[in-house]
Amino acid sequence: MMKEWPAYLKHDASPEERAAVPEEDMGIDYWFWCEGCETNHKFRTKASKGSNPQPVWTFNGNMEKPTFGPSLRYFHPAHKNPDGKQIAEKTTCHLFLEDGLLRYLDDCPHILAGKSKIPLQEMPW
Ligand SMILES: [Zn+2]
Repeated sequence: MMKEWPAYLKHDASPEERAAVPEEDMGIDYWFWCEGCETNHKFRTKASKGSNPQPVWTFNGNMEKPTFGPSLRYFHPAHKNPDGKQIAEKTTCHLFLEDGLLRYLDDCPHILAGKSKIPLQEMPW
């Protein structure tokens, strides 16, 4: 049976694609638009097998008012510049998605830092 996905929360694979791979091999990603970063982010709710395990989040299963936990944080890892200078880890986005509303934490470097109750919006594509 086809499941409808709201335009603001997109699943990573079609039902046909999902049916073609074994259950235990599938990662499940839920994509949404982030106005602060002007790009999409994702919550992964099921681990995929393989050499590159990724963190997973809990999901309340509600496609209209999704809640994922814990928070989602994107960052640039600490690294060394070509000139050898050590660059510290840097947060690029940090948020909660609760009851379909985004809550951005104060450590975001963008305009939505500290803002909350922001409704999900449709993906621009
Ligand atoms: Zn963001």
